[in-house]
Amino acid sequence: MLKLDNHLSGRHFLHIPGPSPVPPRVLRSISYQTIDHRGPEFGAFGLQVLAGIQKIFQTKQPVIIYSASGTGAWEGALVNVLNPGDKVLFYETGQFANLWRALAKRIGLEPEVIGKVGQDTWRWGIDADLIEERLRKDTQHEIKAVCVVHNETSTGVTSNIAAVRKAIDAAKHPALLLVDSVSGLGSAEYRHDEWGADVTIAGSQKGLMLPPGIGFNALSPRAIEVSKSIKTPKSYWAWDEILESNKTGYWPTTPSTNLMYGLHEAMDMMLAEGLDTVFARHQRLAQACRQAVVAWGLENQCLDTECYSPVLTCISVPEGMDADLLRKHALEKFNLSLGIGLGKIKGKAFRIGHLGDCNELSLMAALSGVEMSLGAMGFKPKASGVVAAQEFLK
Ligand SMILES: *Cc1c(COP(=O)(O)O)cnc(C)c1O
Repeated sequence: MLKLDNHLSGRHFLHIPGPSPVPPRVLRSISYQTIDHRGPEFGAFGLQVLAGIQKIFQTKQPVIIYSASGTGAWEGALVNVLNPGDKVLFYETGQFANLWRALAKRIGLEPEVIGKVGQDTWRWGIDADLIEERLRKDTQHEIKAVCVVHNETSTGVTSNIAAVRKAIDAAKHPALLLVDSVSGLGSAEYRHDEWGADVTIAGSQKGLMLPPGIGFNALSPRAIEVSKSIKTPKSYWAWDEILESNKTGYWPTTPSTNLMYGLHEAMDMMLAEGLDTVFARHQRLAQACRQAVVAWGLENQCLDTECYSPVLTCISVPEGMDADLLRKHALEKFNLSLGIGLGKIKGKAFRIGHLGDCNELSLMAALSGVEMSLGAMGFKPKASGVVAAQEFLK
């Protein structure tokens, strides 16, 4: 028997920006008996899940559900709408934008990267004017897609996706808009249809409050049309067979039955709370977390006041402090799991996730753990972040 959490009493405070805590209701539904995915009950259930996920993406178009993590859904999106050697424009917001770009290169695309000129592009939201400028120069329309990250999980910066669509349209450029909302969907406001995304990529283990294991591609009519003439070899990722099977609530291969039970339950919870209420709750908790950061006298990785993430807050530690030692202390002493600094900010920053099944007191517990761990590192905060957050939330 695997024993992971019996070395510490009390609950484990999972405050990394994904996987996020899975609510007991969702865990219980995942434990229902696995049924025949080709049997009569499954089709009706499949149709309910497919209709529910459209509401979460705020789309009337089909949503592909893959048995894969977010990375698989990234690849699925690219191989369905791009041909080998196609030029693709990436905007560097942080580590996840970079990883997606590296994946694109490995599968034979030609990524080009832009970012905020003259500033650390890992601290700001997407400057849509730069995308417009670049596309205007592409008079031959060689760039086939613009790939952006909605909620950059490595930095805690959420970009304005509607502005990116406007930029592409203003440049009168036919490039498709591909959006990674792996960590945004379900926690940060997201409107697939209204914002004009062609493919939105998401995953199960962030805002959707599920374990890792399923990934999504929300489509647009244009993405489906383009996919029909794409020559990139693919089989498992191909949308056409999945879309055909989905019409009756089935999948061509075995879907992740039990995770889909969980998805059904999680969507019920989110829709009962109301998506706008869910988004407002995340904004409020994020704001409380930022009050704590200011009180401590620490620096938020995000400098863009328009683009603070409702999903997570990335905090730079003072010179000389090792963010990983702070995290180690929080885990060993308080059973609190904080997010690691990714890529070029490893050791220099840590992240507090406040996404999914999070409320005032779960956030307060995390902030207490951080404050005590900062003290243990010898840091003298300007003031108590815990008190500042309490004042804000009361
Ligand atoms: C987590 C994450 C991914 C990768 O998803 P996996 O499920 O780890 O494959 C991609 N993009 C963003 C923004 C993420 O937060």
